[in-house]
Amino acid sequence: MTSKKESILVIGGGISGMTTAIEAAEVGREVFLVETDPYLGGRVARMNKYFPKLCPPWCGLEINLRRIRQNPKIHVFTYTDVTSIDGEVGGYRATLMERPRMVTEACTSCGDCTPACPVERDDDFNYGMARTKAIYLPFMMAHPQRYVIDEAACPGEECGKCVEACKYEAIDLAMKTRETKIEVGKVVFATGWQPYEAEKIDNLGFGKLENVVTNVMMERLAAREGPTGGKILRPSDGKEITSIAFVQCAGSRDENHLPYCSTVCCMASLKQATYVREAHPEASAEIFYIDLRTPGRHEDFLKAREKDEKLTLTKGKVAEITEDPSTKNLTVVAEDVQGGSLVRREVDMVVLATGMVPNGVARELISTVETDDNGFVASDEKIGVIAAGVTTGPMDVSTSVQQGTAAALKAMISE
Ligand SMILES: Cc1cc2nc3c(=O)[nH]c(=O)nc-3n(C[C@H](O)[C@H](O)[C@H](O)COP(=O)(O)OP(=O)(O)OC[C@H]3O[C@@H](n4cnc5c(N)ncnc54)[C@H](O)[C@@H]3O)c2cc1C
Repeated sequence: MTSKKESILVIGGGISGMTTAIEAAEVGREVFLVETDPYLGGRVARMNKYFPKLCPPWCGLEINLRRIRQNPKIHVFTYTDVTSIDGEVGGYRATLMERPRMVTEACTSCGDCTPACPVERDDDFNYGMARTKAIYLPFMMAHPQRYVIDEAACPGEECGKCVEACKYEAIDLAMKTRETKIEVGKVVFATGWQPYEAEKIDNLGFGKLENVVTNVMMERLAAREGPTGGKILRPSDGKEITSIAFVQCAGSRDENHLPYCSTVCCMASLKQATYVREAHPEASAEIFYIDLRTPGRHEDFLKAREKDEKLTLTKGKVAEITEDPSTKNLTVVAEDVQGGSLVRREVDMVVLATGMVPNGVARELISTVETDDNGFVASDEKIGVIAAGVTTGPMDVSTSVQQGTAAALKAMISE
């Protein structure tokens, strides 16, 4: 057993937090890994493929999950919030509140409960583009591989149909929130990001024009297990797309929205253009950008995409998106900087490349945590608070993994 002083609380079970937990536990530290969602993996779990290799997210996540499952030093709390932290470096006390999942470890994920459940809810894993029953498995590869009941949607014991359907007696509708108190020496924040609220960008029509979606939604539209079975169908009528436009810096590098660059959106749109071309080989794609930011080895990815005759890269800021009410087709109006003209393109669908906003929980829990003007957290080893991944600033997965490893080292050596 490691001493409490040497134990580490990692808040956030995305790729960076999982990495920190694994690296610290594999050299013998006791780690408490706390995730607010009912599953580990964070935003990466919701992707269709990773750039630059274009492999499915399970390539990397599955190995990490196995390392977590096999390591008794990692105590995983999913569906759990950290409600308070007090004390100081070397002696932090934290309260963990595990929300009632209402499904016990006896669940085998057989799925017999789902058809029995009479109630539906919006599927947040698919960004609201699908519905699930009130009792649901967040997604096929979820860890833990256990169903969960959405308390807000479930009528509770007065219904009880899922309880009757479950032959493993794994459903407990009377389950209550469970409180756990822990003591640790260090706290790592790996709470990641959420997409910028695209509704706030008035001229780009998200939330008003049905066929305007965001880049995170596009990941789910392209996923085989996503709401459209991997066919990129436009939301208004389910038509297979023949043309699509990507709007870069949607709200980013803009003082009225996010003043910073999220660093991954150019690569994400180039990647998503490949989804379109694979799913619908005849479809054309156009990316409107201010600057294409594909640093280092990502330049090769750009070069490969540039060879695609059906992908057009247009340097210019999009001024407006309008809709033909009869066809729901969209017209993108943009300045073509290199051509020196205003262009209008009619397309089936538009993807807004919105940026990443930090999940700002660190300061709520430890008031002395330092953040920059945009809410990204700075590590402060003097107070035993370390940050990793997008909590510290926008970055891709491989950098998040590096930061996760660095956070484990910092948590272990700065005593
Ligand atoms: C559209 C798009 C596509 C992308 N595609 C790629 C790609 O192909 N390749 C690539 O390298 N990068 C890509 N990225 C970047 C990638 O998503 C990030 O690098 C990655 O998600 C960072 O992981 P993280 O663990 O830091 O954060 P997250 O993935 O956000 O994980 C943070 C975790 O913390 C949890 N959490 C938050 N608050 C709390 C709390 N209070 N208590 C407990 N848990 C909490 C969250 O639920 C989440 O599980 C893409 C980004 C976007 C926007």
